[in-house]
Amino acid sequence: MTIEFDIRLSDHRTPADERERLLENPGFGQTFTDHMITIRWDAEHGWHDARLEAYAPLTLDPATAVFHYAQELFEGLKAYRRADGSIVAFRPYANAARFNTSCERMAMPPLPEETFVRSLELLVDADRDWVPTQEGHSLYLRPFIIATQRGLGVNSPSSSYLFIVIASPSGSYFTGGIKPVSVWLSEEYTRAAPGGTGAAKCGGNYAAAFVAQAQAVQEGCDQVVWLDANEHRWVEEMGGMNLFFVYGSGADARVMTPALTGTLLPGITRDALLKLAPDLGVPASEGRISTDQWREGNASGELTEVFACGTAAVITPVGRVKSAKDEWLVGSGEPGPVTMRLREELVGIQYGDRPDPYGWIHKI
Ligand code: PMP
Repeated sequence: MTIEFDIRLSDHRTPADERERLLENPGFGQTFTDHMITIRWDAEHGWHDARLEAYAPLTLDPATAVFHYAQELFEGLKAYRRADGSIVAFRPYANAARFNTSCERMAMPPLPEETFVRSLELLVDADRDWVPTQEGHSLYLRPFIIATQRGLGVNSPSSSYLFIVIASPSGSYFTGGIKPVSVWLSEEYTRAAPGGTGAAKCGGNYAAAFVAQAQAVQEGCDQVVWLDANEHRWVEEMGGMNLFFVYGSGADARVMTPALTGTLLPGITRDALLKLAPDLGVPASEGRISTDQWREGNASGELTEVFACGTAAVITPVGRVKSAKDEWLVGSGEPGPVTMRLREELVGIQYGDRPDPYGWIHKI
């Protein structure tokens, strides 16, 4: 059964000139559009009261479950405006599926995939004028779900939930060209342990990461790289992106990304690259690499490039690596050809400059 949405368009939309000003330099996650989606869940009614309504603050009792035990999770994807003016999303059903996998881990009710995607379509359509036209800009979509039961009982999941989607115009990550990032190998803190919530996109994973990211910055690096919780040596992922390692060069180049062990997020960009790279003649595999192998691989020249991938910045080269006892460059420290080739193809599919034989593009 598909849920009916009650469409309540805002009667105080942002004036066009103000909107245009905000779209000039949106940054990331600072500006929000005129509407949001809300859908409620409780055991008696299931998913109900679905609305498109004016973007507005929520009023919640201080004893609401989400504030205390962090039963919450989110998704992130983008809507792109193409040269012909049309608007598309990239693999929204993959986000819907990951949302539900996360829900399962967090003891929350799954949302039918069609409802998840329909909510994105309705919001983007209502706020079409907010989808940026500037090259490399996009409308970032943030679906999330929170536990809304009032009470401090800690032994069972909430009996009610609120699903929300908000949208935020986002600028290019690559103002002034593509700059390789430097990474800090976090040997002191870990992000996720076997059996934990590493594969779920729950807020708690990110709350626990801030201290390690701050340490990375203190060490003069841009991003933290997480290692496995048992031995602190197998590379897992970056703060908000998955990692790929490029071995060899030219016709012999191949890529490897850490396998999904349950402790890292199954990135949708990662999944797309595992399919895209082989079609471009670059064999791709899932495997594992230790921090020693990373350092030795760069020293011997066997490991030629490393890049991170995710919705936010698509593909970002890693230029320098630092740990408590070592520091080294990846290749020359500059963006490598395999990294840039994959990036160009993926961005090309998203913005319509390349065909989409995979069916990843969803017109809105
Ligand atoms: N890892 C983490 C921890 C993330 O937060 C993200 C961003 N969702 C990713 C990887 C990349 O995932 P995706 O390609 O789906 O954006």
